[in-house]
Amino acid sequence: MVGIPQVGMDGQGKSDKVRGKHPVEDVIYDRLVDAIIDKHLRPGQHLNEVKLADAYGVPRSRVRRVLERLRDEDVVVFELNKGAFISRPTIEDAHNVFEARRHLECVVVRLACERATADDIDSLRRHLADEREAFEALRPNVNRTAAEFHVLIAEIAGNPVLERMLGLLIRRCVLVQSVYEKKSGILCLTDEHSHLVECIAENHPDAAAAQMAHHFDHIVSSLDLTETRRNEVDIYEFARS
Ligand SMILES: [Zn+2]
Repeated sequence: MVGIPQVGMDGQGKSDKVRGKHPVEDVIYDRLVDAIIDKHLRPGQHLNEVKLADAYGVPRSRVRRVLERLRDEDVVVFELNKGAFISRPTIEDAHNVFEARRHLECVVVRLACERATADDIDSLRRHLADEREAFEALRPNVNRTAAEFHVLIAEIAGNPVLERMLGLLIRRCVLVQSVYEKKSGILCLTDEHSHLVECIAENHPDAAAAQMAHHFDHIVSSLDLTETRRNEVDIYEFARS
């Protein structure tokens, strides 16, 4: 396999999180998730437990627990006698995941409108500036930066349950995009994010929800969820087995 994400080497100045009983497992989890969002790990790709354990300097059992956590989130699948692979969503998965995320994001942005402080609006505007810079420089972490915009809105909404649900859906949406996007590109448009920030800043929940729905209609329109693509996916599945 290629592109094993290294602990403490994300280059983004992000400190290693310490949470839960086994902080190193959280670090490995975060690095694998970042690698998926950055598209270094793609649907169907094999995750070699031994190589991951060597790369992170941990027992194989810890890598296995991280992979099981990702399996529980439908991001990884285990195949008998073959090991772990990044999930490859079906067309039905794609419709369901984006429909769920579109509805959840509209609820979340309404709450963000109600609860955003002046500091929150400043954070959103700073993030937008970072996002524009990442887009213009075509930085490799541009997709992650765009995803983090949506996570930031969820944080502002102030409901950890919704925030966690959105995190799960973001990861699955990235997998859908990896398989079904019409051409390699960027999931989110900064201008649409900018419009969302102004709706939140002006506390216009109806306008914010409408803009969010438009944003997701736009994203879904960038996907090819046709029978032709279904056949292509079937061919790849055959080649992998
Ligand atoms: Zn977006």
